[in-house]
Amino acid sequence: MSLNGRQTYKYIPLVGLKRKTEIPQVVHFLTNHGRFQHYFFRFGLSTTQNCSCGEIGYADHYILHCPLNSDLRGKLVFDVDNPPSILETKSNQLIIKQIVERVDSSIRRI
Ligand SMILES: [Zn+2]
Repeated sequence: MSLNGRQTYKYIPLVGLKRKTEIPQVVHFLTNHGRFQHYFFRFGLSTTQNCSCGEIGYADHYILHCPLNSDLRGKLVFDVDNPPSILETKSNQLIIKQIVERVDSSIRRI
């Protein structure tokens, strides 16, 4: 199974069944179809799959690991052992939307 398959499996149960978020950018991002570095690389639209911090730019990376988003990530409240719980509150969804928008604007400058 590809990394993307695992990523989708991890988040889709809640996104697909309950439409926990009505923010399309957030759904796209969590299923690794958002506008971020790894996605562009996969389709030959970028020569690098790395985030500007140097790590691979997967959705997980931007939301859970990237030092460039630590200010926003610090506001997320969820169970790290149950990643889909990240979508259970509207406030988390809005924070993720901010991360998505930040990543999106950084990509546009490339
Ligand atoms: Zn990063």
